[in-house]
Amino acid sequence: MNSVNLLVQSEPAATCAPDLAQGPWDFDTVPGYGPGASLGDVAPPSAPRQGALPAEYRESSDDELRARITAAREALGSRVVVLGHFYQRDEIVAHADFLGDSFQLANAAQTVPDAEAIVFCGVHFMAETADVLAKPGQAVILPNLAAGCSMADMADIDSVEDAWAQLEALYGTEPDADGRVPVIPVTYMNSAADLKAFCGRHGGIVCTSSNAETVLEWAFERAQRVLFFPDQHLGRNTAKKMGVPIERMPMWNPRKPLGGSTGDDLLDARVILWHGFCSVHKRFTVDQIDRARAAHPGVRVIVHPECPMPVVDAADEAGSTDYIRKAVAGATEPTTFAIGTEINMVNRLAAEFPQHTIFCLDPVVCPCSTMYRIHPGYLAWVLEELVAGRTVNQVTVPDDVAADARVALERMLAARPKPTPTTAGPETKGAVR
Ligand code: SF4
Repeated sequence: MNSVNLLVQSEPAATCAPDLAQGPWDFDTVPGYGPGASLGDVAPPSAPRQGALPAEYRESSDDELRARITAAREALGSRVVVLGHFYQRDEIVAHADFLGDSFQLANAAQTVPDAEAIVFCGVHFMAETADVLAKPGQAVILPNLAAGCSMADMADIDSVEDAWAQLEALYGTEPDADGRVPVIPVTYMNSAADLKAFCGRHGGIVCTSSNAETVLEWAFERAQRVLFFPDQHLGRNTAKKMGVPIERMPMWNPRKPLGGSTGDDLLDARVILWHGFCSVHKRFTVDQIDRARAAHPGVRVIVHPECPMPVVDAADEAGSTDYIRKAVAGATEPTTFAIGTEINMVNRLAAEFPQHTIFCLDPVVCPCSTMYRIHPGYLAWVLEELVAGRTVNQVTVPDDVAADARVALERMLAARPKPTPTTAGPETKGAVR
């Protein structure tokens, strides 16, 4: 029904999986992440599954779904708010009250205390975060429960608890002369609620790609070292930018004793990096940057800090999705941009800023497998169920987990990013209806 947007570049775009032209319900009952960048990642058995979508939504045309969503929104009025992540497809973004990255949407979810329901068009960990921060009685709805995140799934609570026990055995728990504890946990927003709760219980904090540097500064004031999970690349790129030597950032592979590092390496560590990654951003390479520069002299290369370190080092700039958007919006002269982030966002930037030439570094159209799961058919379904007085696909975090996760999230929300020209709040798409 929906096809992936055409890539804006000089060469014809290839697609990473022909299945992407189909509705995601074709994959929802099959274990795994489905077509897209995370196709080869291993989904844990505990990954949420989505039940069958009623045929009337699967068989509706794009125009019919658009009309049904619009009618349901009108019927619900201000009782519901729709949040959309930058990586969502255009047909979803068109219905979002707020568009932003995970940090901005976490904030936006707190600005709608009167809404009975928050429909989160993003992935599972984002909906969990919204539920943790939601007001009592507010329902957070994920239109497709199979919209997880393969990176988030690379760290689970049992593995992190096990790592923590090994590190405590090595370091002890006594603070140093400056009052800094041996190690503090920092989890990327892209993690399950029980990992955020772990951080809350152990003096730690959550970060996003918008505020990772601020959060690491916060952590280094309180600890000699940081255990950073699940994204090794964001941890490494951020710590390197702050002057931490690479040799003081050992990797923690949860399948190996001491994470596969030596005791000496861990004692000397400043940041211990979990062996996780984003399969969307792992696709970007230095070779792609070289080819972009050869084909487009003067091109401005901006990549996301979930990209591998050599790619971030070779780029002109690296920053969160919000940074990338603001950098493009702030360019006063026609500019050629090569962007290293998810294809839906790059295509939207290209359409929104036609005065610039904007293309994705990766010549293959390969969206995030899980963001792709949020299809207008699912959005129409959850909204029409609300109109009928039924709440489906509610994401609920247990109270005890939520209480501890809230501690870590509130530390993050208090640790605001340093003011820069590219830092701003969520993009409000008109008044909340
Ligand atoms: S882009 Fe990467 S980190 Fe973001 S939801 Fe998709 S797999 Fe997860």
